[in-house]
Amino acid sequence: MSTQLKATLNENEKRTIVDIGGGVTCGGRSLLIVAGPCSVESAEQMDQVANAMHGQGVSAIRGGVYKPRTSPYAFQGMGEEGLRIMSEMSKKYSMPIITEVMSEKQADIAVHVADVLQIGSRNMQNFELLKHIGTLNKPVILKRGLSATLEEFVMAAEYILAGGNKNVILCERGIRSYDSATRNVLDLGGVVALRHMTHLPIIVDPSHACGRSELVADLARAAVACGADGIMIECHPEPAKSVSDARQAISLQDMIDIVRSIEPIAHAVGRTVGSPHLVPAKPAAVVQVKNVKRTSAHESLLGELKAIRREVDKIDATVAALLEKRLTLALEVGALKDELNLPSRDHVREREVIELVSRCCSDPQIADKVRDIYERIMEASLQLQNETPVNEKVA
Ligand code: PEP
Ligand code: MN
Repeated sequence: MSTQLKATLNENEKRTIVDIGGGVTCGGRSLLIVAGPCSVESAEQMDQVANAMHGQGVSAIRGGVYKPRTSPYAFQGMGEEGLRIMSEMSKKYSMPIITEVMSEKQADIAVHVADVLQIGSRNMQNFELLKHIGTLNKPVILKRGLSATLEEFVMAAEYILAGGNKNVILCERGIRSYDSATRNVLDLGGVVALRHMTHLPIIVDPSHACGRSELVADLARAAVACGADGIMIECHPEPAKSVSDARQAISLQDMIDIVRSIEPIAHAVGRTVGSPHLVPAKPAAVVQVKNVKRTSAHESLLGELKAIRREVDKIDATVAALLEKRLTLALEVGALKDELNLPSRDHVREREVIELVSRCCSDPQIADKVRDIYERIMEASLQLQNETPVNEKVA
C-alpha cells in the first residue's frame, strides 16, 4: 500500500484519537465501550438501556433506526421517530449516541442528532456513500464488510479520509466463513494486523461476530486483551423480545458485568475502562427542599446533586459487595497462613497491593487517597483474620 495514503500507518506517525464529544474518545488510553440494542424500538426501551448503562463505564449508546435487513419484509427500523427517541435519551443521560445510516439522505438527517454515524458491513464499499460521509464533520464507525480483506477495509476508510473527515473508527464485526456454529468468524488476528496497517482506532463488535449471546462476554474480553480500542455490544432490557438480532442480545445486567470483568484486562494492557461522563445525568424530577427560595438555576443544581448522588449510591453498592468478597477471601488467606505457620502480617504483600491499586488510578492525587483507603482495608482484613476462630475462617 502506498505511503501517501491517509489511512495507512506511516513511520513515526501518531495513532489517531477520535473525539466523539462529552469527554469520550476512542484510540487513546480509555476504551470506547458502546452498548445498546440492535434496533431502537420505543422510548421506554431506550430509557431503560441508558438508565442502566449510565455511570457503569459505558461510553456511548448505540441503536439502529435505519436497519439493513436481509428480507425487505422484516422490520426496517423506526426511522426519524427513532432518532427523536435517541436524541431525548442522549439529552437526559448526557450520553453520546451512535446510529447506522445506509444512504446519503439518511446521513444528512442523522448527522444533526447522532454523535457518531455508523456505516454498516453491507455498505463498507458503497463508495458514493463513503465519499459523502467524508464531507461531513462527524465521527464515523466504519464496519468491516462481510468478506472484506483488511486492505479493502483500510481503503474504504481512505475514501472517508480523502473527503476531509479524519474521525474514522474501524470496527471488526466478524467475517463470513464455512462454519455455521457462529454467525461469523471474529478476526482478532485481523485486529492486531490492522494496528500495523493503520493509525485509525479499531473497535470490536463481538455480538454480530458470533451471533450467540452466551459467547459475547469471552470475545469482548479477548478483544480488549489483544489491543482493541473499544467494544460495541448489543444489549436489550428483554433480550428474547428484541425485534432484531434477538439471538445475540445480552441483558443489561450482563452488559454491566462484562464492563466490570474487562477492567483488570484493560489495566493489564495499559488501558482504562469507559470514559468519564463529564456532564451528570439530567434529573428526571427536581428535588424539593423546604425553606429555600427556589430559582430555576437553583433547582437545576439540586437536580444535578440528586443525579450525582444516584451515581454515588450505585458505586457504593458495588464497592460494598466487592469489599465483602475481598474480606471473605482474606479470611481464607488467614486460614492458609495458619496452616502454613506463616505470620499474619506480610509487609511485602501489603506493599504489592498498594502498588497495584495505585497503578490503577490515573490521577496522582486520587491515587494517594486510594492508597490511604487500602491501608485501612488491609488493616480490616488483618483484624478479621485475628478475630475469627480458626474453624470459621474458611466458608
Ligand atoms: C448493526 O450494528 O446493527 C449491524 C447491522 O451491524 P453489521 O453492519 O456489522 O451487520
Ligand atoms: Mn444487530
